[in-house]
This record gives sequence, structure tokens and C-alpha cells, in this order.
Amino acid sequence: MTVDTLSKTTSLLASLGIEPENPGAFDGGWIDTSGPVIESINPTTEEPIASVRTASSEDYERVAAASVRAFEQWRTWPAPKRGEVVRQLGDELRRHKDALGALVTLEMGKILSEGLGEVQEMIDMADLAVGMSRQLYGLSMHSERPEHRMYEQWHPLGPVGIITAFNFPVAVWAWNAMVAAVCGDSMIWKPSAKTPLTAVAITRIAQRVLEANDAPPVFGLAIGDRNQVGKPMTEDRRIPLISATGSVAMGRSIGKAVAERLGRSLLELGGNNGIVITDDADQDLALRAVLFAAVGTAGQRCTTTRRLFLQKGIAASFKARLVEAYKSITPADPMEHSTLMGPLVDGRAVEDMKKALATAVEQGGRILFGGEAIEGTGFFVQPTLVEANVQMPITCDETFAPILYIFEFDELAEAIAQHNAVPQGLSSAIFTTNVLSAERFLSPAGSDCGIANVNIGTSGAEIGGAFGGEKETGGGREAGSDSWKIYMRRQTCTINYGEELPLAQGVEFDV
Ligand code: NAD
Repeated sequence: MTVDTLSKTTSLLASLGIEPENPGAFDGGWIDTSGPVIESINPTTEEPIASVRTASSEDYERVAAASVRAFEQWRTWPAPKRGEVVRQLGDELRRHKDALGALVTLEMGKILSEGLGEVQEMIDMADLAVGMSRQLYGLSMHSERPEHRMYEQWHPLGPVGIITAFNFPVAVWAWNAMVAAVCGDSMIWKPSAKTPLTAVAITRIAQRVLEANDAPPVFGLAIGDRNQVGKPMTEDRRIPLISATGSVAMGRSIGKAVAERLGRSLLELGGNNGIVITDDADQDLALRAVLFAAVGTAGQRCTTTRRLFLQKGIAASFKARLVEAYKSITPADPMEHSTLMGPLVDGRAVEDMKKALATAVEQGGRILFGGEAIEGTGFFVQPTLVEANVQMPITCDETFAPILYIFEFDELAEAIAQHNAVPQGLSSAIFTTNVLSAERFLSPAGSDCGIANVNIGTSGAEIGGAFGGEKETGGGREAGSDSWKIYMRRQTCTINYGEELPLAQGVEFDV
């Protein structure tokens, strides 16, 4: 690191309250944690940024107990008052947007524009949740019994466990936390050990807002590994909901543990997203969309396009244009404004990419472009295009790297069947100018994913909709629409304002 970069980094960290070594748990005060120290590594330079002392299971217990106490108070606050606190949190994030966006880039390696976009997503979530705080509606129904009224209401649920992945180190917390907060829940955040500093920075900001409002410490934090924090949290009967974002393997393990105690889980797991391009599609639009969706965030989005289905009439020309476009991408320092692709998160991700490519070639794939890790400092790789066929088992796996498998098809029905023939079901898209093809893709016999787009790529969802996917992606829904319901408990209430006691279904039980 140059002297200039070092001094910029030091002042960035100081502006967010990050110290060289930080405690990794917060229960209303920072806990003197007793778990192992982890270093946060800048994937661009491979240098440590700062370290965190992780939480032990005893530290987790303190955070959980405090979260229960905070919930008992917070649930009694009127929802719009809780919304006002979230509004102020959104404002505080606006004030720190530049610094937080830069910290996301420093710690995770996504380009600065995407780091800032991620913070903007948190701000948008805060705004959305403020509105929700006045719209946590229940229905009222007509009772079959005379002089009876029946309705349902939604109450706060309890402390929520939030487990997040490295690739959206702050936005995924906000999808959950902003909504859970207006719903009246407290929460315990277990971020990825690869991105602990952003979690410390956000928790500091959130706590300042809570304190200014004399609100209980609802935004708890426990940074630790799966044994010291993950296991006690998922098995904890005081935590009615575990919202977990990460790989399918993680979801399988957490889903089982939570189901064992009959808790609720909200799972946002891996994707294997495809774009179908028909002969009649606007090729320029499709090219730009594929490039952003396949190469953006260095292929480390859950919604990254990993499979491309080209109709035979345009396949050769589209591939040629794609290769030219890939040639123009130079992986480089994600802090530089001209950079479109930064590094992968760590050395293991580079190894996983190499292994997947070797397997793809063994299984009959042909590398059209890229395929190499870039020598030198930082976890840089070439964005890669592979000509593939649907018989290759590797194309059913999510490799968290910029590998795009390309297939060809004759008829749309064939492309849809191939598109759906993977275990994951997160995001999907079709590029076409034919309204019949678009509607077929969106029909019940079309894409089987939680997200289906027309003439838009698979990534970059807006927060107003419910976000999530089907099959091994886990079935969870977060962010907008009626996703708030999972953070609350529904209560059906019937009130008798008469002087008789009629029974439902005409049952008679008179003595
Ligand atoms: P990961 O599964 O390795 O880790 C995710 C989180 O789960 C981390 O905090 C990790 O410590 C924790 N964890 C892992 N195993 C656990 C266990 N047994 N018990 C408790 N906690 C456990 O994932 P990652 O590498 O950080 O992120 C990449 C993955 O996340 C990809 O598969 C990506 O598709 C997925 N993802 C999905 C979405 C979505 O909304 N569907 C969003 C972002 C990322």
C-alpha cells in the first residue's frame, strides 16, 4: 500500500469508528469478546485492513439475552414510532454513504459504484420500511355468528437471527433489519467472517440512532464462526426466526437445525441464473445486460448470470460480440472509477474457479475467452466464457466466480426446459421482442424462478418487490411487497358483543 493510500484508508476507518482491533459483539455496549481474532483482508492488495475479536458462545449468550430484553420493550412502541427511528437511521446512512460504500469496496472487492449502490439499497430499505410502519395491515372478516366480529392482527415476533453472506455485506442486513425493526423485532446479526468491519461500522451507526431516541438496543451483533455463534443461534428457542443468506450447503444445515425445534427460517440461498436470448431480440440491449449480469461484482452476486441460452440464428454473432466485449474488461483496483471488475473475495474463491473450469473442460466444455487467474497481487481472475452443453453436470452447480456457460437452442420450449433443469431457482430473464415468447417465459409453464424478467438481466433487483427464489434457493422472500409478514406473528381475534354464545358450524352444546 502506498503512503497516500494508507493515510486515506486510515482516515476512512477512523470516520466510521473502526479501530485496528475491534470487539466483535454488541449487546447495547461493546463486549470484551473472548473468541479468536480474525483479520479482514483487502482482496485487492491481500493486506489486512483491521481485525476483530470474535464472539465465543458465552458472548453470544450475552447478546441473545440482551436481545430478548430489548424486544420486550421495543414491541410496545407504536409501529410508526419505530418507523421514525428507522427514518433517522436512513438519514444517518445517507450522511455516511461515501465512507460506507468505500469500506464495502475495501473489504469485499466490488467496484466503488456497486459499493455505493449497496449503501443506497440500505437507505432505500429504510425509506420503504418507514412507509411499511403505517401499513402492517390485517384483514377483517365477517363472522358466521350473530353479534360477533372477527379480524386478524399482526404482532411483533421476537428476536430475529440474521446470518449474512460476504457478497452483500450490508444490504442483506438492511433487507432484514429495517423491516424487522418496524415490525417490532430485535435482532442479532451474524455477518460473514470475510466482511466483519462493515458490520462493526453499521452497528455503531445504528446504535447512535437508537441512543438518540432512548430506544432499546435492538440491533445486536455477534461476529463469530458457525460453532461459537451460528450453532447456538440456530438452535436457540428464544429466536423464533432465523433469516439466513448464503450457500445451499449452509441453508441445508441451518434449515434442519431450525426445523428440528419447529422454528421459522427464511432462506436466501445460491442461484444458477439463466438468460434466454431469442433470434428476434434486441442484440445491443441483450449484450449490455449479459455483460453487467455476468461480470458485475466479479460474478459474485447470487443473481449473477451463469448460463446463457442463445437461439441458433443469432448464436454465432452474439458469441463473437460477447468475446469482444469481454476483451475490453480489465480486472483492476475496484476503487478506481474506470474499473468494471474487481478481484474475487479470497484465494479460495480463485481456486474454486480454477477447479470448476478444469471440470468443465473435462466434461466437454470449451473455453471461448478467459479461464486464467491473473498473476500478481490481489485475487484477480479473467471473466470467462465457456461453450457448454446441458449434459455437463458442472453447469448445475453455482461456482461463485465470473464463469458464463453458453448453450444453443432451436425452440423456446427447449430453452425453457433446459433453463429450469437445475436445482436452483433464483433469477431468470428472456430477451425477445415477441410478446408471445415473453408471455410464455412468464407463464406457469415458463421460468420456475422467484424472479423472471423480460429484456432486463438477472441481477440488480429493486427493493420494492419481494426478493428470493424457489427450489434449492430456499423459498424465502425479503425486502418489499408483503415480505414483512414473516417478521410478525398473525393473531386471529373473534369478539362476541352479544349476550348469547352461538358455536361455529352450528354445533349445539347446551346443558
Ligand atoms: P456461506 O454459505 O459460506 O456463508 C454465509 C453465511 O452463513 C456466513 O455468515 C457464514 O458464516 C454462515 N454459515 C455458514 N454455514 C453455517 C452454519 N452451518 N451455521 C450457521 N452459519 C453458517 O456463503 P458466502 O460464501 O458468504 O456467500 C455466497 C453464497 O451466498 C452464494 O451461494 C450466494 O448465491 C449466496 N447468496 C444468496 C443470496 C440470496 O438472496 N439468495 C444473496 C447473497 C448471497
